[in-house]
Amino acid sequence: MLTPISSNPSVNKEALAQIPLNFLDFAKRPQIMEWIIGIRRKIHEKPELGYEEFETSKLIRAELDQMGIPYKYPVAVTGVVGYIGTGKPPFVALRADMDALPIQELVEWEHKSKVPGKMHACGHDAHVAMLLGAARILKEHQNDLQGTVVLVFQPAEEGGGGAKKMIDAGAIENVDAIFGLHLSVRFPSGVVASNPGPVLAASGFFEAVIHGKGGHAALPQHTIDPILAASNVIVSLQHLISRETDPLDSQVITIAKFQGGGAFNVIPDSVTIGGTFRAFSKESFAQLRQRIGEVITKQASVQRCNATIIFDEKSCYPATVNNKELHEHFRKVAGEMLGLENVIQVQPMMGAEDFAFFSEAIAGHFFFLGMTDETQGKFPSGHSPYYRVNEDVLPYGAALHAALATRYLLDHPPTYTSNPEVHYHDEL
Ligand SMILES: [Zn+2]
Ligand SMILES: [Zn+2]
Repeated sequence: MLTPISSNPSVNKEALAQIPLNFLDFAKRPQIMEWIIGIRRKIHEKPELGYEEFETSKLIRAELDQMGIPYKYPVAVTGVVGYIGTGKPPFVALRADMDALPIQELVEWEHKSKVPGKMHACGHDAHVAMLLGAARILKEHQNDLQGTVVLVFQPAEEGGGGAKKMIDAGAIENVDAIFGLHLSVRFPSGVVASNPGPVLAASGFFEAVIHGKGGHAALPQHTIDPILAASNVIVSLQHLISRETDPLDSQVITIAKFQGGGAFNVIPDSVTIGGTFRAFSKESFAQLRQRIGEVITKQASVQRCNATIIFDEKSCYPATVNNKELHEHFRKVAGEMLGLENVIQVQPMMGAEDFAFFSEAIAGHFFFLGMTDETQGKFPSGHSPYYRVNEDVLPYGAALHAALATRYLLDHPPTYTSNPEVHYHDEL
């Protein structure tokens, strides 16, 4: 049996510091670890894309049922929200994403994806398994929870904005804080990395069609060449970063799509370009978006072309900004589990995560769980068809989730500022 956590709020510091280690010991027990890895492998074999995670969601609910953990379903199509603890405030949430990618797996192993063209190449299968692992640890200690842990299993992280839909559906109502993690090949196993403040950028996508007038490639004077206009547009867009942006305010514009023409001797009628832009502050992001629109239309007109632009609002993510107080909490808890030397600070990255919607709505904290291990060969980065997960680190993720939530509840006794009679989550 694990050392029970005292239900007395004046629980001593040493007992508190033991929680993360006790949880890790529990998660590392052979039968628990095998169960977590088994869940991950099952999900890995049946990858499902955003908002299609029906089997994944079913598996999650079956495991929650087995553990006797109540939940809400469906939330945002396939999402599941589970509850462990008193059913009363404070509420602290833990989040996992469930979706896979449209990639053909090229790793040959026993549990390779059985679905052609789909693969868990970002580790979301492991994220789900780790959160279920956390659920098991928390369930084991439910009498010691000084509040409620909300388990958020969300759909469609990869461009679908599932987090936003979960929030709109009330998944984090009354929740004070939320924690999320992502496996990472940038750090060794046993190391976690994060940052107080911005950790991932805001992201937007756009597509523009530049219209000219097609004709014979040998008689350009009778045409309006959209290929030349699009080329100038792309060069001008890069000047937004080099000439209009504060060099210390990181921003990116990338044109990743350029389609036009099909023959060596024909100037086409139109060219389609598309890409992404990234920034950290709301102001910089809005400014960049406005200038992208202006540069495309005005630069196209220099070459007598017209341009139409569409910004894809659905896949527009805010920056992921870590709450400073939660970051301190994370450092303390992860330090107790792994040693402070294994809790490292990272530079913010220009990548994006829809966890940003949660950390925009309430206090949030997102961290990376390292998984490289030289003895196990190379671990290709996320979204590679050769992506692999080091399953040895799954107990760390499960125990960190559980310890972050448990300690948060112990450190944040409820404050009844308004109406103490207010009922939370009556359905529990
Ligand atoms: Zn991804
Ligand atoms: Zn991911």
